[in-house]
Amino acid sequence: MSDLSIDIKISKVSESNIKNVDFNDLTFGKVFTDHMFVCDYVDGVWQTPEIMPYQPLTIAPSARVFHYGQAVFEGMKAFKDEDDQIWLFRPEDNFNRINKSSHRMAIPDFPKDFFFAGLTQLLQLEKEWIQKGKGNSLYIRPFVIATEEAISASPSNSYKFMIICSPAQSYYAGEVKVLFAEKFSRAADGGVGFAKAAGNYGAQFYPTSLAHAKGYQQIIWTDANSHEYLEEAGTMNIFFRVGDTLLTAPNNDRILDGITRKCVIQLAKDNDIDIEVRRVTVAEIKEAAKNGTLKEIFGAGTAAVINPIAGFEHAGDEFELPKLENSYASLFKEKLTNIQYNVSEDPHGWRYKV
Ligand SMILES: *Cc1c(COP(=O)(O)O)cnc(C)c1O
Repeated sequence: MSDLSIDIKISKVSESNIKNVDFNDLTFGKVFTDHMFVCDYVDGVWQTPEIMPYQPLTIAPSARVFHYGQAVFEGMKAFKDEDDQIWLFRPEDNFNRINKSSHRMAIPDFPKDFFFAGLTQLLQLEKEWIQKGKGNSLYIRPFVIATEEAISASPSNSYKFMIICSPAQSYYAGEVKVLFAEKFSRAADGGVGFAKAAGNYGAQFYPTSLAHAKGYQQIIWTDANSHEYLEEAGTMNIFFRVGDTLLTAPNNDRILDGITRKCVIQLAKDNDIDIEVRRVTVAEIKEAAKNGTLKEIFGAGTAAVINPIAGFEHAGDEFELPKLENSYASLFKEKLTNIQYNVSEDPHGWRYKV
């Protein structure tokens, strides 16, 4: 357990901005709550954390983050149940993962007590911003940036760890069609694909914009060496249902170790669904699509929870997926959100009460 009572300097807004927000018309990640959490790393020590009004930062143009992208982030959500209790979902995993990402990017670890005390005290302040009802949540974005004023290509001596929050509605991306990558790669062996490192995302925008122009919303990345194995989407891990068996790639240093992915694997086991965690080839998925055994493809990630995919293209071959009544995608989404919103039992201890 972490010490949630550590000293945090709190300065509150004089007036909340919440009255100016239309919770029925939210664009994902555009509106932010009243406060933010900030903690600076100076002279080898994380300083006293602060919670202060959400506001722009003053950072030198020479700060290393602008030049070398030494930056990592996390994405998590808070939910409100029918009794106005607030819940996080597996936050320890997010905490461990941001430090794993930081480690790879030569950023110092953030202390656990600071993370949990900061997060829970910030959420207490922003309670009103978390709306009840399935689909509503508060998206939480912890991140770290290198702030030292120095443009030599070496790790920073100072950093800023922050948490900002954005109210979110159920995220429906519409019919999602995807392109299996043939040329571009997201990550390579020995690289930073497993980390939520800022540059991983910026590097996807260009190839993804080419996919958009062809009518595909996302890319399913394949291994950088052969482009024969399906790995993951830009911000989601990916599952294939062939017959009644689920397939998903094993984690490696190119693939982000998604918390939603881990939950889907566990829920599949709990519900006696066959699951194989193994390398999945482009060829077998195309073959399954041709012979009618490919029933579903879906993405799994915090933002969209489970995102069904309607079709895909590879090497000029286009495939549409059948519309299923009782899809695994909807089963997993229902089971997961029931746990998140405290509607069902939580046999694996995934909920965390704020
Ligand atoms: C964040 C992310 C995921 C999903 O992880 P969750 O912990 O389930 O939110 C998957 N792939 C990539 C590349 C990601 O950045």
